Amino acid sequence: MMNAPTGYGKRRLGVMGGTFDPIHHGHLVAASEVAHHFDLDEVVFVPTGRPWQKADQVVSAPEDRYLMTVIATASNPRFSVSRVDIDRPGPTFTIDTLRDISEAHGPDTELYFITGADALAQILSWRDVDELFTIAHFVGATRPGHHLHDPGLPEGRVSLLEIPALAISSSECRQRVASGEPIWYLVPDGIVQYINKRGLYRRLED
Ligand code: ATP
Ligand code: MG
Repeated sequence: MMNAPTGYGKRRLGVMGGTFDPIHHGHLVAASEVAHHFDLDEVVFVPTGRPWQKADQVVSAPEDRYLMTVIATASNPRFSVSRVDIDRPGPTFTIDTLRDISEAHGPDTELYFITGADALAQILSWRDVDELFTIAHFVGATRPGHHLHDPGLPEGRVSLLEIPALAISSSECRQRVASGEPIWYLVPDGIVQYINKRGLYRRLED
């Protein structure tokens, strides 16, 4: 009898964690490109609770970030949003995100954690880094201005994927709103409208 190749028949689930303050087209293109390249069945976006890397920064309310993520992904049948991080008390650690998602989907699902190459470069400083690599394959999306310096990542568990250069960041979107500049087409239309409706980012220190 022939052995099935490893992972054969398993569901492939992308996990895209982020602050999403706000979600923008860079996030959406990265998720879409990785989904295509790795033949993922679904990508679940996971807005962070309190991101420990951004402990010194003011971050919008989790419910606003969650709703913006839902609005931005609603039209794509392969995109979904998870509340695991915003419903878990305390700061968000990626290991907890992956454990929760992995438990929710069971052993027949392979996880692909999608992250920007900038974040991937810090990965070795993360908590429980060895377990991280056993739970998920890591995909680093290279984005303009960020290059991987530290190659000390485990072989076979990390891939890099160059995605179309979209020099968009949430920080720039927030700064633009604060100074009255447009963010049309940097974020989905519904996100422009949600930001206006809720008065987000008008003053950056709010
Ligand atoms: P901020 O400017 O506040 O840091 P951000 O734009 O980096 O926000 P995050 O929510 O922090 O957005 O990012 C979530 C994930 O998406 C991270 O892994 C980040 O590296 C990646 N990412 C963000 N912007 C892009 C982009 N333009 N292209 C590809 N990946 C991106
Ligand atoms: Mg960032």
